[in-house]
Amino acid sequence: MNNSFCSLCSRPLKAKLFAAPDGNDNNKLYSFYQCAGCTLVQIRPFPNKKKIDKYYSYVDADNHAKIKNQQINFLYNLPLGKIMLKKYIDLCYQQRYQLIIKLHTKGRILDIGCGEGSFLKKFTPEKWQRVGIEINKNLARSASLKLKNTIISTKPLESASLPINKLEIITMWHVLEHINNPTLVLESIKKLINPNGYLVIEVPHGNSLYRKIFRENWQMLLLPQHLFFWTGKSITRILKETGFQTVRVSYPGIISFSGSSSLANFLRSKKVNTYIATLIAILFFPLVLIINILSLKTRDNMLIIAKLKT
Ligand SMILES: [Zn+2]
Repeated sequence: MNNSFCSLCSRPLKAKLFAAPDGNDNNKLYSFYQCAGCTLVQIRPFPNKKKIDKYYSYVDADNHAKIKNQQINFLYNLPLGKIMLKKYIDLCYQQRYQLIIKLHTKGRILDIGCGEGSFLKKFTPEKWQRVGIEINKNLARSASLKLKNTIISTKPLESASLPINKLEIITMWHVLEHINNPTLVLESIKKLINPNGYLVIEVPHGNSLYRKIFRENWQMLLLPQHLFFWTGKSITRILKETGFQTVRVSYPGIISFSGSSSLANFLRSKKVNTYIATLIAILFFPLVLIINILSLKTRDNMLIIAKLKT
C-alpha cells in the first residue's frame, strides 16, 4: 500500500480532511484523505494487516457493539435499553430481508461478514441454501448454532473455497469498508455469483453530511477498522473495474442514530460528561430525524445493488 496515492485510481492524495485517534490508542493518529479524482475517502497511514486482524478477535457480539459505540453502551445499560436495541437491530435485518426477496424469492445466498447469523436466519432453509462467512470465530460459532443446514466459513472469501457457487444473492452489510484489498474480494465474488444474481452492498457513505459536519467525531469512523469510505462515484468505479454493473445506488437510514451519536461524541470531545452528552443527543433526535429525511443523497449509509456486467 502506497500511502501517498489513492488506493483506487492512483492519483496523488492531497486534500486531507481531518485526523482522528485510534479508537483503542489515543496516541496513534490517523488521517483521512478524499481523492480528487475518484472521490474515495481513505485512511492514512494504512494500518498493517496484523493490527487490523487483532480487532476481529473480540469475544462476542455484545462486546463488538460496546467497542463501537459508547452511546450504545450507555443505552444498553438503561432499563429496557437492551430490549429496544434488539428490536431496532431486528427491524434493520427485516428491512434488508424485504429488499432481498424483491430480487429473488428463493435460491442460494451468501452473507459475507454474517456475524452471529441474524440476517441469514430470516431466510427459510426450505427456500434458501444459506452460506455465511465470518472471520470472528466466536461469532461464527454462534451462527453455526443458530442456523441449521448452513455452511459457515471462518476464512476470508478469497481463500474460503466454498462448496457452492452460482449464488443468486451475495450480501455485504457494512463489510467492504473493512476490507484492505476490495478489488481481490470483488473478483472472488465475481467467480461465485450467478449471471442472474445480485451483489448487495451497504457501507458508511463517504460523502455523508454528518461526515462533513462532525469530522473526527463522526460516529461511522470506527478507527482503525474502517479503511475506506465509499462514495457513489468510487463504488461504481471499482465495481466496473471488477466486472460488475451498478443496478441501483440509494441512501437509506432515515431512522438512524448516527447524527445524535456524532453530536454526543462532539460534546464529549469538549469535556461534557457522557451522561449529559447522551441526554442532549437524545433531546436533539427529532431534529436529527428531520435532517435525515431531508439529506436524501448525503445520508450516512449507501446501498448498492450490482450484477455481473453483460
Ligand atoms: Zn482516487
